[in-house]
Amino acid sequence: MNFHLITLFPEVCKAYTDASVLGRAQKTEKGKGAKVRGKKISVNYYNPRDFTIDKHHKADDRPYGGGPGMVMKAEPILKAWEKAVGRKKGKVKTLIMSPRGATFSQQMAKELAGKYEHVVLISGRYEGIDARVKKILKADEVSVGDYVLTGGELPALTILDAVAREVPGVLGTQESLEDKRVSSGEMYTRPEMIKYRGKNHAVPAVFLSGDHKAIDTRRGDQG
Ligand code: SAH
Repeated sequence: MNFHLITLFPEVCKAYTDASVLGRAQKTEKGKGAKVRGKKISVNYYNPRDFTIDKHHKADDRPYGGGPGMVMKAEPILKAWEKAVGRKKGKVKTLIMSPRGATFSQQMAKELAGKYEHVVLISGRYEGIDARVKKILKADEVSVGDYVLTGGELPALTILDAVAREVPGVLGTQESLEDKRVSSGEMYTRPEMIKYRGKNHAVPAVFLSGDHKAIDTRRGDQG
């Protein structure tokens, strides 16, 4: 799975995608013996500012029809998209981050991971993106929730993260992907007893019992 992020702030996003599980999934890993595990995902960045042609590298401009704020210009984004996936043969999905889009869900994450080879995530800033981008690229608008952020970077990272988790091999064990685990809430780790402000907080006995059926029931899993 190849992710392509079009954003004015690639360095902000890269700090996140290079860490932990996502960072590891972008590297080849040496397994036991001569075994080498291939890369599971690639994460590529494109800054619309690098695709501007004026000397000030302006990626935004005033809105036609008036109104406050600025709008991200279409052409630098279209050029960035061309660079990212313009010549790719595999299946490409393009998503524009927007508080007015369809609300992102686990179901969408599964579909994206299963059906596409390239996912392009376009992050807006200011008042949003010139509407022609959506039409030209046949993109879908996606929201991460009923609230407005200052930019599409956190939404793009949220989607990337949820989709990458669904790519086989990104998580350590296949079982972590099971649907029922999405809501397996109650977890404990060492130590067995924590003293906090004079009160003792023990790990419930059932978790120490070794009775996996009882533990699954307690966690709300179906077993
Ligand atoms: N006035 C604009 C808001 C722009 S917010 C409007 O009504 O659409 C700036 C950018 O942040 C948007 O272009 C979008 O890319 C991103 N953004 C903000 N909230 C978001 C959300 N809930 N989901 C996805 N993207 C969001």
